[in-house]
Amino acid sequence: MNNCLFCKIINGEIPSRKAYEDDKILAFHDINPQAPTHILVIPKCHIPSMDGVNAENADLVAYLLTKIPEIAGAAGLSGGYRVISNCGPDACQSVAHLHFHILGGAQLADKMA
Ligand code: 5GP
Ligand code: ZN
Repeated sequence: MNNCLFCKIINGEIPSRKAYEDDKILAFHDINPQAPTHILVIPKCHIPSMDGVNAENADLVAYLLTKIPEIAGAAGLSGGYRVISNCGPDACQSVAHLHFHILGGAQLADKMA
């Protein structure tokens, strides 16, 4: 997946401000933050979207989810946070590599859409 923006961030071709990294996942700050803290969490393995989650990669996705509280805590989001994954055109997914937005650092809107 040479043309994938987030795969390029994973392999260092495109720089990012990292919040967490291990051998399976990467978390980095969104370039266009929509909250005081806006972090993207991605699997290092290319999965195009939530529609690509299946029995074969479920362990990786579950692992990623278990890391979100740790990443949010390290970012100081003690008051809570919102986790969003946009899937497909109706949800305005703009990068076709599965990612979870962590948004926080302020009182967020009570409507999600
Ligand atoms: P989506 O719209 O697909 O749910 O989210 C994609 C996110 O990636 C957007 O919030 C956008 O600001 C972010 N983004 C796009 N290009 C870059 C980039 O080059 N670096 C970083 N850090 N974030 C990016
Ligand atoms: Zn990718």
